[in-house]
Amino acid sequence: MKIVVLMKVVPDTETRFQINSDANDVVWDPSIEWIIGPYDEYAVEEAIRIKEKHGGTVISVTIGKGIEEKSIRKIMAMGVDEGILVNNASVNGSDPVSIAKAIAEVVKPLQADIILAGKTATDSNDAFVGPAVAELLSIPVITEVSGLDVNADGLIATRDAAGRKERFESKFPVLITADKGLNEPRYPKIPDIMKAKKKKLETLDSISSPITNNVSLLKVEFPAQKEGGNKITGTPDELVAQLVSGLTTKEKVI
Ligand SMILES: Cc1cc2nc3c(=O)[nH]c(=O)nc-3n(C[C@H](O)[C@H](O)[C@H](O)COP(=O)(O)OP(=O)(O)OC[C@H]3O[C@@H](n4cnc5c(N)ncnc54)[C@H](O)[C@@H]3O)c2cc1C
Repeated sequence: MKIVVLMKVVPDTETRFQINSDANDVVWDPSIEWIIGPYDEYAVEEAIRIKEKHGGTVISVTIGKGIEEKSIRKIMAMGVDEGILVNNASVNGSDPVSIAKAIAEVVKPLQADIILAGKTATDSNDAFVGPAVAELLSIPVITEVSGLDVNADGLIATRDAAGRKERFESKFPVLITADKGLNEPRYPKIPDIMKAKKKKLETLDSISSPITNNVSLLKVEFPAQKEGGNKITGTPDELVAQLVSGLTTKEKVI
């Protein structure tokens, strides 16, 4: 079975960003720690579990800007067999459509049975790239998957919808976007970290699909600080009176 996993490197989710002096981007401080996208970790773990159960190869694909090798070696230590890294400085400020097209160009010749991606990249949060790659490859997509059963020629995926669970069936090839709960990603073992250094990582400096910035980032601002809540005290009748007064005069919702 050929399994491809899409992996984007993102700033650590604990990063406290500052806005730059032109207010049109955050400050890309060199001290920012870059990590494997949290949802991509679920995708990677699931790809490895499918390989361990059914045999085959797991290949990772990353469109990056030159800081991704450490994370690719980490997923190789988890069990990914090979990696493809497209390095392109234009990734900074690029639009998600061009990223999806670049990924589709790299993934198409691999003829994968299953492509796994994260449901969203925790920095830009477009939740777009996975479904867009499926569309560009003309294959089905099942998004936000939290359970997966793979068989010889297809799979059954579980998805949490509002207040219910849904199960979908698809034949191969299919693209899955991984949600929390799909699995518990493993920690790489030290011997596997050593072996990962020797795994094949193909680095491409150019591909035909251009990385573009057709959508420009104009302004970045932090959300307005929420005002602290008011604590009300008194008898039940006084509490009701204060609540009704607050909702009519202050919040103006009734
Ligand atoms: C200031 C600035 C800096 C930027 N820096 C980067 C950067 O360093 N790297 C970058 O890729 N884009 C960068 N971008 C571009 C922007 O983040 C893209 O739109 C983005 O790659 C795709 O959207 P998303 O990250 O919201 O992906 P989503 O659609 O939320 O991603 C869903 C999933 O698609 C896969 N995926 C997404 N992007 C990639 C990728 N590049 N390689 C492999 N799999 C991927 C992952 O599995 C991910 O979980 C930058 C944009 C700006 C404005």
